[in-house]
Amino acid sequence: MFTNMTMKNVFFNNPNPDCKEDCRFRECGPAMTTAAYYPPTYDKYGNNLNPDGNITTQQIACTVCGKVWQSATQYGKTTYTRIL
Ligand SMILES: [Zn+2]
Repeated sequence: MFTNMTMKNVFFNNPNPDCKEDCRFRECGPAMTTAAYYPPTYDKYGNNLNPDGNITTQQIACTVCGKVWQSATQYGKTTYTRIL
């Protein structure tokens, strides 16, 4: 699925600083994406002024430390909040 692939790519480009070299991460449960509609609106240069602002959330667990984060991705940027 496109959403999960995106999440994996984003995640592995941003390894969690709290974890160590041999930590392993696993997605927990399905990625969830808000479903608001953002109709593309372009200026005269073809820039989309109304990009998709939906937020994709996914829980990610470290199988070594037992820590769990929730990732939130919007506008191509992912932030992580530790929840366990
Ligand atoms: Zn870890």
